[in-house]
Amino acid sequence: MRIGHGYDVHRLVEGRALILGGVAIPYEKGLLGHSDADVLTHALMDALLGAAALGDIGHLFPDSDERYSGADSVLLLREVVSRLREKGYRVGNVDCTVLAQRPKLAPYVEQMRHRLADAMEIGVGSVSVKATTEEGLGFTGEGLGIAAHAVALLEEIE
Ligand code: MG
Repeated sequence: MRIGHGYDVHRLVEGRALILGGVAIPYEKGLLGHSDADVLTHALMDALLGAAALGDIGHLFPDSDERYSGADSVLLLREVVSRLREKGYRVGNVDCTVLAQRPKLAPYVEQMRHRLADAMEIGVGSVSVKATTEEGLGFTGEGLGIAAHAVALLEEIE
C-alpha cells in the first residue's frame, strides 16, 4: 500500500461557477482557475499522484496548455486513475476535507462522493468527503477562497 497527500486553494470570484467534487453548487461566486477550478478534485488528484510519486497535476495538466482551459476536473481525475492503473496501482480509499466558510456544503456531499467514486471506478464507501468552516478565520473564513485537503491510499495490483 502507498499513501499520498494533496492540498489545493482557489480564489472565490464573481462570475464563475462553483464546482466542487464535480458537482455544480449554487452560489453567488465561483472558483477562479484555468480549468473549472474544482479545488476538491484537484487536491484529490494530487493525493493520488503523490501516493504513486508521479508528481502533481500542475506537471501533468499544465496551465499553459490550452487543452485544459475550462477543463472538467472529473475527466482529469479519470485520466489520473488510468495512469495509476498503467503503473500497477488501484485506488484503495480516499478521504477529503473542504475548507469553506460559505456556502453550506453538507447538502452536496453525497453527490460529490458518488461523482468522485464513479470517476475513480471504486465504491462510494471508499470515498469520504467532509466539509468544515475555519470559524471565520483566515482566507477561507473571510470567504476569499476555498481550500481542500485529501489523502489517498493506493494498492498494488497483483
Ligand atoms: Mg487547483
